Amino acid sequence: MAKQEDQFKKVLSHAKEYGYVFQSSEIYDGLSAVYDYAQNGVELKKNIRDYWWKAMVQMHENIVGIDASILMHPTTWKASGHVDAFNDPLIDNKDSKKRYRADVLVEDYCAKIEGKIEKEVKKAAKRFGDAFNKEEFLATNGRVLGYQEKINTILGRLGKSLENEDLADVKALIEELEIADPLTGSKNWTDVKQFNLMFGTKLGASADTAMDLYLRPETAQGIFVNFLNVQKTGRMKIPFGIAQTGKAFRNEIVARQFIFRMREFEQMEMQFFVKPGTQKEWYDTWKETRLKWHLSLGMGADNYRFHDHEKLAHYADAAADIEFKFPFGFKELEGIHSRTDFDLKAHEEHSGKKLQYFDHAENKNYVPYVVETSIGLDRMFLAVFSTSLQEEELENGTTRTVLKLPAVLAPTKAAILPLVKKDGLPEIARKIVDDLKWDFNVSYDEKDAVGRRYRRQDANGTPFCITVDHDTLNDNTVTIRHRDTMEQKRVAISELRDIIKEEVDVKNWLQKM
Ligand code: ATP
Repeated sequence: MAKQEDQFKKVLSHAKEYGYVFQSSEIYDGLSAVYDYAQNGVELKKNIRDYWWKAMVQMHENIVGIDASILMHPTTWKASGHVDAFNDPLIDNKDSKKRYRADVLVEDYCAKIEGKIEKEVKKAAKRFGDAFNKEEFLATNGRVLGYQEKINTILGRLGKSLENEDLADVKALIEELEIADPLTGSKNWTDVKQFNLMFGTKLGASADTAMDLYLRPETAQGIFVNFLNVQKTGRMKIPFGIAQTGKAFRNEIVARQFIFRMREFEQMEMQFFVKPGTQKEWYDTWKETRLKWHLSLGMGADNYRFHDHEKLAHYADAAADIEFKFPFGFKELEGIHSRTDFDLKAHEEHSGKKLQYFDHAENKNYVPYVVETSIGLDRMFLAVFSTSLQEEELENGTTRTVLKLPAVLAPTKAAILPLVKKDGLPEIARKIVDDLKWDFNVSYDEKDAVGRRYRRQDANGTPFCITVDHDTLNDNTVTIRHRDTMEQKRVAISELRDIIKEEVDVKNWLQKM
């Protein structure tokens, strides 16, 4: 645990020190759970967004994009169920005055029991060595089965109580399990209350005519209300998808895991409209496709797992999360939801307009079913950044901090370094920058000894360093150093573009899908 916390602290300080993420309005002591992306962060974020957009829109003939507004007619949120049901159950600790999500307190309690299971597994693996069969152990070991049953009973009861809006029972559960305030250990709790997560705002200047609006809590509804516009103007045939990236806002109660849970964040969503009855097939397809997208970035298959939902949201007939191993454990990174015809039907009812598709093959109208893929861009950023940040012991006994970002996502692809600031070397280096900048984000760095510059670029995540030295003056060759292997090669200046392209080209990465 301590190791995880240490790693997380390193992630936070590295993100600030190397210009990736700053606290919002830091000079005023910041705003809780709101962050700004800095000069490198904005590039990494853009590259992740582009990587998603290319995979989803450019690579699919039947998926198109839109960019809907953050402000929408308020009835949208009545129809979608957000006004009535977008609530989190919250509980306050009377002694510490801290506020928590009641369901998260119970889930964290269960995560601790899960930790005990993992410990048993580790112990047994050590005892049995090569003969150890994890599946069999999990299915037969008495202690593990006992733990698992306890988790199932607790989560089962929590799920039921939430579904029945029985908040008194959620409090009773917290008390029975003797869950204490994680910060102070106090068990002096208030009742559990529902809290709507939408931010309200007003449209219009005068107090009596102003209209109450919400900042959108998800981007999906902008797609649903435009479904027919896009289908008709784009002459789209089912099955087809509409994709969108953009800001969403949630007044999160517990928001203290850096950019994992923010109050203002960005989503990348795609709604795929299908014929009723085919949704299960498409749900499976999209689960698989999305996981492949993640795996194409080469961050390790062990870092991902599916979590199939047992308790479904009011609009879904199947749902799963792709969970990622963040520095604080496995947590949701992306959701894949089979949303039925809930949203389109609800908008039909509330707007009085038909939102149906005429299927020529079937010769009839119907409201399509929807399979959604929804990923948080900021969570993806954290997944990429935290996994890439590594400390390596080198052969000479020193350590180096290196940000091994997938090269396709790295903010700067190459740094051009003149060995010394004289003898015409800076001029050649500048010329290389001017040439390469048409194709890639590159930078120029002449300050400090070249070894220190290499370390700085490693920590910045730059895949290549290109050093111009005195031999360059004679033979037009430079040294190209690879961030991950630290291997150095002598190559002609004219070869640089192809070498870099090979490593950072989206095509070469997406083709791994
Ligand atoms: P959680 O259970 O963690 O609150 P959720 O199930 O409410 O998430 P969805 O409504 O399914 O999330 O939103 C889709 C995606 O948007 C999530 O998988 C996540 O990556 C991202 N997301 C949701 N809430 C936040 C937030 N407050 N900050 C950053 N990203 C978020």
